[in-house]
Amino acid sequence: MLKAAHGKVTEEQELEMVELIIAPGGPSVSALARQFGLSRYLVKKALRRQMGEEAAKAATHTRWSESMRGNQNGVGHKFPSAVAERFSAERRGKGNPNWKGGPKARHRLRYRDIKAQALERDSYRCMRCKSREQLVVHHIVSEKDRPDLLHDLENLETLCRACHMRHHHGH
Ligand SMILES: [Zn+2]
Ligand SMILES: [Zn+2]
Repeated sequence: MLKAAHGKVTEEQELEMVELIIAPGGPSVSALARQFGLSRYLVKKALRRQMGEEAAKAATHTRWSESMRGNQNGVGHKFPSAVAERFSAERRGKGNPNWKGGPKARHRLRYRDIKAQALERDSYRCMRCKSREQLVVHHIVSEKDRPDLLHDLENLETLCRACHMRHHHGH
């Protein structure tokens, strides 16, 4: 865990963390820290940068109420919609240097929903190795090639982090 101290985080990783933490069955801050090889402090800082102060605080609050937390596997865990709204509101400006414009933030929220659907459809397992660890949702046809398929469930595939890395970066 000490390797974390000098960890550098790219914006892509930060957004990935946001999407993971707000997804159904999403990981805790500690789990995210382990997954990305960062300290909890850096994870929280990254979330604050992307989500804004308040939404990050809500998302990283260690214990959701029972109903929010879902079952023991975290399935059914729901990111409170009030927080999701605040997330988009925070991104709507108020001096957030990472603000990228309204449509993009809406995209991210919609993307979060479709990702949750993909995870559920794939039973929270990597479609290549059946792992349940460190899942990400991958676009089969990239956003760059077919932006219109960004939110198409058929174009999404649940992969574990290892298989995802292998897919994009070879062996
Ligand atoms: Zn895998
Ligand atoms: Zn991918």
